[in-house]
Formats: sequence, structure tokens, C-alpha cells
Amino acid sequence: MLHTSQIELDKKALKNNIDFIKNHIGESVKYSMVVKANAYGHGIEEIVPIAEGYGVNHFSVFSIAEAQRVFEVKKENTKIMIMGWVDGDYFDWAINSNVSFFVFTQYRLKRAIDRAKELNKVAKIHLELETGMYRTGLTKKELEPVARLIKENKEYIEVEGVCTHYAGAENLETHERIVEQINTFKNLCSELENLGINPKTRHTACSAAMFNYPETIMDMVRVGVSSYGFWPNLQTKFRYLKENNLSESPLLRVLEWKSFIMSVNEVPKGKYISYGTSFLTTRHSKIATIPVGYGYGFSRNLSNNGYVLLKGERAKIVGVVNMNMLVVDVTDIKNVEVDDVVILIGEQGDEEITVSSFSEMNNSLNYEMLTRLPDHIPRNVIE
Ligand SMILES: *Cc1c(COP(=O)(O)O)cnc(C)c1O
Repeated sequence: MLHTSQIELDKKALKNNIDFIKNHIGESVKYSMVVKANAYGHGIEEIVPIAEGYGVNHFSVFSIAEAQRVFEVKKENTKIMIMGWVDGDYFDWAINSNVSFFVFTQYRLKRAIDRAKELNKVAKIHLELETGMYRTGLTKKELEPVARLIKENKEYIEVEGVCTHYAGAENLETHERIVEQINTFKNLCSELENLGINPKTRHTACSAAMFNYPETIMDMVRVGVSSYGFWPNLQTKFRYLKENNLSESPLLRVLEWKSFIMSVNEVPKGKYISYGTSFLTTRHSKIATIPVGYGYGFSRNLSNNGYVLLKGERAKIVGVVNMNMLVVDVTDIKNVEVDDVVILIGEQGDEEITVSSFSEMNNSLNYEMLTRLPDHIPRNVIE
């Protein structure tokens, strides 16, 4: 084994999630799968072709670097949309490659026009509107000059879409803010129409908005985390299950992360385990070491706190998670041996470690945990 851990991707689970999301949004709505941050840790090169096989032909990324990775593996007619970073010479790459990108400043619009003119091509853009998140977006007073520039350069600019992003559609606490954003978006869209700009595709919904505010679905959705089988948070999950009279989640986890036992040792009562003094044995113990640590994407927050699965049972992490290793207590698990499989995320026997229990049911950590899985861990697709 060259690498100390492996990620397995369940093709059937991905199909299940794609079918479920398509069914939820309806046939006339486009599904853009968000594959930023290495497809939420799952692997762009693995996820894109599988999703294409199940009918997804639109992918959203954050940066040029991610767009280029999708471009390398995608089918000819599959579309890529950049929601964030484009710069310098890469405007040319995007325009030449038919990759669309968000425009949220007049500066970027001017750059796009200049480059498209120079290349004698059409830049495909999505106008991102400021509706109340206060991160990126064109404000109301910018719409007039933006519309003018677009109309003056219509041979070089195609406004494919108009969009916005919500400031936390997963939390009931932000309900008023989201409703206000939805209204602002509608108003700004009418304003744009009055100025003569009528993009075909309005898109605003991420996973949480798609579930909690169906009116945000519009012409296209940009769905990340739920494509991979995760709910944006537990509130959203339980609300959906309750409203649809379901007892089990219709989303399935695509990813499993596993490693192996590297060594097994006995430790007398009253000894500290690993660095420092954070864990003291209270009995004669058996411990096992696993060659995965924070340097390989395993959160240090799980020191003395998280679990792994081993022989179908939970083994608690003892001491701090090191850069390359973690230690678990296996005193109560029989016949643990070197090379035994260890599940870091996934199921074994009747037990399961979900990413959220992994990070104390905290959804922001859930996203963070996934996207921290290093690119170099091998991804194996399971049929
Ligand atoms: C990440 C992102 C999404 C997808 O969010 P999920 O919660 O993963 O579905 C959609 N839109 C934008 C602008 C994003 O940055």
C-alpha cells in the first residue's frame, strides 16, 4: 500500500442523489453540480465523468484552476461555470474554451469585453447581483452602466444568466434575510429587464435554498453538498423528512474513507498516550496506531474525541491527533491486528461514522472536513 489511506466513491449513491435532486427540481430546471474544492473532497476527475454518465452536463467551480481540471475530463458539450476567480491571461482561456464566469464588478465586465474583442469571440457571463449577502455582486446603481456596456458590445458579450447567492438558507434564524434577498433579486431582475437585459437563466439556489425555499429554484440550481449525499445541516434534513413523511434520508453518502492498523501495543495503567499529557490510561490498555493525521485531512479537533470503526465496533481516539498518526483505544475489541481495515468515514457492521458525527453535528465543519481531504489520497470508484 503506497498511501496510508484510501477514499472509495460509491457510484450508485451518486446516481441516487442525482436522480433525487432532478426529481425535486423538476424536469424543466437545469442542474448544475458544484464541484469546487475538488468536488467537496471527492475528486473532480472521478466525479465529473460519473455524473455525466447520469445526465449532468453543467458544472460549477470557483476558480480557473478548478475549471481547467473539469475541462480536461469533461465531454465536449458539457458546460463549465466559474463562480469566483478569473484573472489575467485566463480570461482568454475561459473565453476561448466557452467557459462562462460570474461578473460581479464593472471592472470584470470591462476586462471580459476587452479580451473578447481582442480574440474576436463571445464572452459568456452570468451577472451576479448584490441582494443582501454583501460579499460579491452588482448593486442597483451599477445596473444602468452595466446594461449600457453590454448593449454597446453585444457582439462580444452573451449574458447567459443572472444570479445571486443566499446568506445561509439552511438556518431558520436567517429567514427574514433570505426572504428579503429573494424579493431584492426579483426587483433587480425587473430593473435589468427594463434596461433591456433579459438573460435566459435565473439561478439562485444552493442545496439549502432548494430544499427550504422552493421559489428559489427558478431556471437552474447550483447544488454542491447534497449531490454528495449530505444535508446542508440537520435542521434542513429533519424539516424535509417531516414535510415529506419520510423516516430515512433520500440522500446517500458517496464517500468512504479508510485506512489500516499500523501497530498494536499494550500500555500499563497510569501512562500518558502520545504527545503531551492529554490522555492518561486508567487501566491496562491496548492501543492501535493508524497512519492518518491532520496532515492527511483528519481534523485535530477530534483529539480525545472522535471515533473510528474497527471490526464493526467503535474505537475512541486517545491523545492528540498527530500530523501523520492517530491512536485509538482497542482494549475492548478482540483480536485487533496489524493491517486490519479501519473506517474513518463510512459503515462497518451496524456502525456508521458520518461526516457530521465526525465533526460534532456541526455543518460548517462538515463542509470543511470534506474539502480538507487531500488531493493525493487515491480515489477508487466502486461500481
Ligand atoms: C458553494 C456554492 C454553491 C453550492 O452550495 P451547497 O451548499 O454546497 O449546495 C452554490 N452557489 C455558490 C455561489 C457557491 O459558492
